[in-house]
Amino acid sequence: MAKIDEYIPIVGQSTVDDLRLIADRLKGKVIQHINSTAVGGGVAEILNRMVPFLRELGVDTRWDLIKGGEQFFGVTKKFHNVLHARPDAVTQRDFDIFMETSQKNIEELDTYGDIVFVHDPQPIALVTKKKENKWIWRCHIDVSNPHMGVWEFLKNFIIQYDAAVFSAPGFSPRLPIRQFLISPSIDPLSDKNIELPQETIDKVLRKYAIPKDKPILTQISRFDRLKDPLGVIEAYLQVKRYIDCRLVLAGGSAADDPEGLQVLEEAREKAKADSDIHILLLPQNDIEVNALQRASTVIIQKSLKEGFGLTVSEALWKAKPVVASNVGGIPLQIKHKYSGMLCHSVDGAAFALKQLLHSPDYARKLGENGREHVRNNFLITRHLKEYMLLFLSLYYPQDVVYV
Ligand code: UDP
Repeated sequence: MAKIDEYIPIVGQSTVDDLRLIADRLKGKVIQHINSTAVGGGVAEILNRMVPFLRELGVDTRWDLIKGGEQFFGVTKKFHNVLHARPDAVTQRDFDIFMETSQKNIEELDTYGDIVFVHDPQPIALVTKKKENKWIWRCHIDVSNPHMGVWEFLKNFIIQYDAAVFSAPGFSPRLPIRQFLISPSIDPLSDKNIELPQETIDKVLRKYAIPKDKPILTQISRFDRLKDPLGVIEAYLQVKRYIDCRLVLAGGSAADDPEGLQVLEEAREKAKADSDIHILLLPQNDIEVNALQRASTVIIQKSLKEGFGLTVSEALWKAKPVVASNVGGIPLQIKHKYSGMLCHSVDGAAFALKQLLHSPDYARKLGENGREHVRNNFLITRHLKEYMLLFLSLYYPQDVVYV
């Protein structure tokens, strides 16, 4: 993993100095992150970088996982969907399954941290173990229009925390606890985002039998209906009538997402008549994702709902033109026609894709602007600073302002 000083050429000396100063104030405190999966999805992506980085800064940071079976993750995926306003029937049985597994985790998982940092709804009930230590609930999803039954159920736990963190201003409903707005981030020096030699990019294209003969449009996402892979194929088919190109739809699976294989099959079915569509089930391999993003002419993120959408910042950091839906945290990353193109429909996505493929200079400019926007707002250094300030703030009473 990259050392902290290696970030100086990217973000400047003063940013790194600030991190060291703030980290010093946290000496002696144990920060314990808890979530439900070590791989797959944005939360695991962030923790895999955040935890070693905080440790290198001298902050004693650990990471624990809750345990759950297929039934539990079936329920939490349903919660995830309905919190994002996708209709589904939630039953008392679902709440019972959630509580049965939560109860086991409450019994088995040691919540030893001075600050226990719980990510997303899956481990939320652990807070019933709260003692003298501080607890933060980190919400990575868009709960601006949630299923009220599930939200009320979760809220009974949320109000037991000391603070809640959301990714975007519109996401946070009214709560009687302290709320913080902190956007996620990418690590420019991780395998996912580091510069790659052309041979590495070509090798990955060869591995997946993707020729370089035509422009490549790519969406990299878990196979999840909220990522709208079928909508991506429809947009591509509209573009294809005018411009010859390829589509790469690539994604792996996440341990806490049981729907993936079914959605993958639906995408395969829809794509089978067109040999220029490449549907890839990826292993967990950051260099491969990086290479596919770098090999692309345009990156798509046509989500129907999105917490933040790390894939957008990953693409922009690679100075790629991006076409993405105007949902969730995506408009924080893309200013329409400045650092990418926002869309609201399949037709809108197809229109933007055609425009970018027709105007490479314009596409390049959007990509360059996007990279600067990410440098200023969505790199891990900013994220670490805000988290550490949040940790420190928990030790000061809310109504006292220190100047
Ligand atoms: N990702 C990956 N392999 C895949 C699909 C996704 O490594 O096959 C990564 C992707 O690069 C990004 C994260 O998983 O870093 C997904 O985060 P995002 O916020 O875009 O969506 P989420 O999956 O959390 O809804």
